[in-house]
Amino acid sequence: NQQTRLKLLNGVDMPIIGFGVYKVEAGTETVNSVKTAIEAGYRSIDTAAIYQNESGVGQAIRESKVPREELFITSKVWNDDQGYDFTLRAFDESLRKLGLDYLDLYLIHWPVAGMYADTWRAMERLYKEGRVRAIGVSNFHVHHLENLLNQAKEVPVINQIELHPRLNQAEIRSFCHSHNIAVEAWAPLGKGKLLDEPVLAEIADSHNKTAAQVILRWHLQNGVIVIPKSVNPARIRENIKVFDFSLSPEEMQQIEELNSNERFGTNPDKYEPKP
Ligand code: NAD
Repeated sequence: NQQTRLKLLNGVDMPIIGFGVYKVEAGTETVNSVKTAIEAGYRSIDTAAIYQNESGVGQAIRESKVPREELFITSKVWNDDQGYDFTLRAFDESLRKLGLDYLDLYLIHWPVAGMYADTWRAMERLYKEGRVRAIGVSNFHVHHLENLLNQAKEVPVINQIELHPRLNQAEIRSFCHSHNIAVEAWAPLGKGKLLDEPVLAEIADSHNKTAAQVILRWHLQNGVIVIPKSVNPARIRENIKVFDFSLSPEEMQQIEELNSNERFGTNPDKYEPKP
């Protein structure tokens, strides 16, 4: 019986495993995979305006019949919608598409230069108005966080970043954890591209688990929230079966050593370079 939720710094409880829907096709594919995920036990769904599948996520939520308050729904404000007024409008639009009257978590998708501080003020307003239970950021380096913390009234509860064994983000993880900011891994499985690492296969075999489950377990034991994506029902179910084993300190260390600072996504400094 291992812990499946984490308390964010404002007291809100969040599932440590969620279902990511980036590149899941709008419509049937989104509706079916989100419903499969909810049936498999996921209670947290990670979408974004730019994924263009918020309507499908909303439909799946309604069809799942799981009470709204048992679910944890995240969306994100896209780069073109940053700034105070645009963010307020983008939030309304996301809620409308999802068919919800509040979000659990709203994130700034990327640290767009000169914009994210104004975006954050709008997020603080949405939070104060009770329209979202928690607000956070995504793709923030330490320098972005320091800059935001200097001006913000509310501390972001989460930083969602690219994080997997090849990009272990030790510095950002340690900064966030020392500020009680939760760390959430996107591409937790390295987009599925590092599952044939021999070390992972070896560890997986010894626990009768898959490489994907071993990677997810590594994140969780590091105190990191994960949102693996799949449209394959068997894999969707596989990815949440990570609460019946644990990795030894030696195995954790072996996985840590796979780091090569390799990114599959954009470096956030593209949007605002370090001054
Ligand atoms: P991921 O690491 O979750 O990898 C997904 C891919 O891995 C799948 O498409 C599939 O090919 C493979 N896979 C999944 N489960 C598997 C299994 N059990 N066995 C074998 N292969 C498996 O990558 P992702 O989708 O990019 O990231 C997860 C989520 O993070 C996204 O869906 C999205 O919600 C979020 N995300 C956020 C940002 C951001 O900028 N904030 C960027 C990218 C993704």
